[in-house]
Amino acid sequence: MNQGIMNVPPPRNEPEYNYAPGSPERAAIIKEIERLRSSDPPEIPLLVGGREVRTGQLGQVRCPHDHGRVLATFHQAGPQEVAAAVEAAREAWREWSSWDWTDRLAVFLQAADLASTKYRFLLNAATMLNQSKTVHQAEIDAATELIDFYRFNVHHAGLIHGQIMNMAPGNWNHLEPRPLEGFVFAVSPFNFLAIGSNLPTAPAMLGNVVLWKPSSSVVFSNHFLLKLWAEAGLPPGVINFLPGPGDQVGAPVLAQPSLAGLHFTGSTDVFREMWSAIGRNIGRYRNYPRLVGETGGKGFVMVHASTDPALAATALIRGAFEFQGQKCSATSRAYIPDSLWPQVRDLLAAALEEIKVGDVADLRNFMGAVIDRPAFRRVTGYLEYARTSNDHQIVFGGQADDTRGYFIQPTVIRATQPQTKLMNEEIFGPVLTVYVYPEKDFAETLGLCDQTSPYALTGSIFARDRPAVRRALTGLRYSAGNFYINDKTTGAMVGQQPFGGARASGTNDKVGSILNMWRWVNPRTIKETFIPATDFRYPFLGKGP
Ligand code: NAD
Repeated sequence: MNQGIMNVPPPRNEPEYNYAPGSPERAAIIKEIERLRSSDPPEIPLLVGGREVRTGQLGQVRCPHDHGRVLATFHQAGPQEVAAAVEAAREAWREWSSWDWTDRLAVFLQAADLASTKYRFLLNAATMLNQSKTVHQAEIDAATELIDFYRFNVHHAGLIHGQIMNMAPGNWNHLEPRPLEGFVFAVSPFNFLAIGSNLPTAPAMLGNVVLWKPSSSVVFSNHFLLKLWAEAGLPPGVINFLPGPGDQVGAPVLAQPSLAGLHFTGSTDVFREMWSAIGRNIGRYRNYPRLVGETGGKGFVMVHASTDPALAATALIRGAFEFQGQKCSATSRAYIPDSLWPQVRDLLAAALEEIKVGDVADLRNFMGAVIDRPAFRRVTGYLEYARTSNDHQIVFGGQADDTRGYFIQPTVIRATQPQTKLMNEEIFGPVLTVYVYPEKDFAETLGLCDQTSPYALTGSIFARDRPAVRRALTGLRYSAGNFYINDKTTGAMVGQQPFGGARASGTNDKVGSILNMWRWVNPRTIKETFIPATDFRYPFLGKGP
C-alpha cells in the first residue's frame, strides 16, 4: 500500500531514430526483419484471463508486399470465448480496479521503456512486414507514437487522480476517479500498431478491464504487444485478446450487460453499425456505455495563391502517399489556384518520377503495398471509376499490380467539378484528387471545401498571406479537428497536437489527451462534514419582522 503522494514523471516525446546508411539502428532493423522472415509463422492463440485458448477456427495473416508469404495463423474467437473473456475480465476487475493507481501506472511506464529498448526493433520489423510500412513509417508508429501514448496517458491519469476540489470550512471534498463498472471493448484498425496498443491500454491505466479485438489483417504485429505487457507486469485478465471476424466477436460483446465502454478506431460505417447495436441493446446495460469512436477522414489541403508551390507540392507528396495513403489523416483532396497549378503539377511530376514502390525491407522504397486484397480492389475500383467518368482525369499514376504484392502507384487525379465522388469519399489508398479553382474564388472555394465531404478530421491551409490564413481558419472552422497552417495533414504528435475529428470522423475525444482519459472513469464525489447540522430549521424561519 502506497502511503505517500507521488508525482508522475513529466512526459516527453520519444526521440526518433533516422535509420540513415551506416547507423546502428539500420543494421539492427535489417537483422530483425531477416530473423522474423526466417522463423516459422507462429500459430497465435486467444488470451483469456491469461490463458491461451485455441478454437481451431484459423485465420491467416499475409505480408502485403509479398502475399504468398504467410506471417502467422491465428485462432478466432466466437460467442463462447467472448463469454469466457467477460467472466475473466470480471474476475480480474476485482483486484485491478483496487490497485494503487501508482502501481498500475508503473506497469505502463515500464512498458514504455521496454518498447523503447528491448522491443523496439521487433515491433518495428513486425510492423514493416505486416503493415508494409517503410522503416520511417514503422518507427513513428510502432516505436515513438506507441511509447508516447504510454507516457502521456500515464501523465494524464496522474492529473485525473490529483484533482483538488474546493473546500468550505467544516468539510472535506474529494473526487474519486473510480474505474467503470464493467469492461471496455477495444476494437482497433489495421493501420497503426500504436492505436492497437493505445485502445486497450488507455482505459486499463485507469483501472478498467478490457476485451480487445484487433484487426484480422495485423494479428501478427499486434500479438507481440501481449508479450510486452506481460513482461511489464500487467496482470492476467486485464486485457483479453479476442481476434476474429468483426461481427462474430462484436455482436456477442455488445449484448453483454456489463459493457461499460467502447473504444473504437476504424471506419465510419463500422462505428455506426456498432452504435446502432448498442442503441438496440440499451435496455440491457447496467450503465450507459461510454462511446468513443475515431473514424474515417478526407484530409484536404487548401492552397492559396500566395504560397510557394514547392512547399505545397512537398506537403502533398508526403501527406497523400506515405504509408500508401492509408492514414485517416492522409491528404486525399487538394484545392489549387489556377495560377499555381502548372508549377505544382510539374513539381509533383518530378517527385513522382523518383518515388519507388516495393518491398519495404529495401530501404530505397518510399512506399510499400496496400494492406490486403479487399483494399487493393477498393482502391483500383476508384481508379477505374476515374478512368471512365466524365469529371475526372488521371494526371499521374493509375497503375496497379497485385502479382506479388498489393502495389498501387501514387496517383494524382484532377476533378473537373468540385464535388465529385473522388473529392467526397474516403479512398484510403495512394490517390490524391485535385480541384483547380479560379484564383479569385478563394473565399467561395473555402465554402466548397467545407461542404464537399461528410468527414472533418484533418485539413491544412498553405498561404504566405496572413489574411488568407485568417479567412481559412474562420471558413474551415468546423471542417477539421486537426488543422494545419503551412504543414502536411499527417504526423500529429501525442502531447503536441491531440488528435481527432468530428462530423463523420468521430466523437472527437482527442486520443492521447486528458479529454480521452476522462471518458474511462466513473467519478464519485465524496463530501465529509466534520460537525453535522443538529437543527433542521434555517434562520429565515425564525420569528420577527
Ligand atoms: P474497419 O472499420 O474495417 O475495421 C476496424 C475494426 O473493426 C477491425 O478490428 C474490424 O475487424 C472491426 N469490425 C468490423 N466490423 C465489426 C463489427 N460488426 N463489430 C465489431 N468490430 C468490427 O477499419 P480498418 O480498415 O481496419 O481501418 C481503416 C479505417 O480506420 C479508415 O476508415 C480510417 O480512416 C479509420 N481510422 C481512423 C483513425 C482516426 O483516428 N480517426 C485512425 C486510424 C484509422
